[in-house]
Amino acid sequence: MELKINECYEIKVKKYMTKKSVDGFDFMKKFNNDNPMPFLIMVGEVIKETPKMVYMKMHGDITETGFDCCLKCGCMITNPVSRYFRLGPFCGGHAYENPFKTEEALIEALALYRKDYLSKVVWEGWIPKSAIVEKRKMTSKIDYEKYVERLSKKYESEKK
Ligand SMILES: [Zn+2]
Repeated sequence: MELKINECYEIKVKKYMTKKSVDGFDFMKKFNNDNPMPFLIMVGEVIKETPKMVYMKMHGDITETGFDCCLKCGCMITNPVSRYFRLGPFCGGHAYENPFKTEEALIEALALYRKDYLSKVVWEGWIPKSAIVEKRKMTSKIDYEKYVERLSKKYESEKK
């Protein structure tokens, strides 16, 4: 599957994309002002491309489903609480147990977590096509915006 301009994808990248430049490997410094990706797995739109790289505008994935691994470090996650957070217990700083009294309360809290945290983890820059290890096409950018809007409305109505 080729990445296409103006389309939205969830991608998993190689670890070096989340690291600053080191001696002898200065990709990040050369192309992205030494500003590495905050997460290993992110969602975003392809803005432009060269034969070997894509420039993407990205944010944390706020959907409930995706790759079965931690958004931050890429380790496999299996327990249900981590799957909701899309982060492993270490990266997410949570226990395996549901920290809330009910499943509903956990899901409510996660809606806020997605809106207030995940959707605000943003990054844009150049990614070598060879650094993308997994990808899946997201329905559309508009869907994402609608999703955030829906979460915001839910949040506002709950505050009242
Ligand atoms: Zn992790």
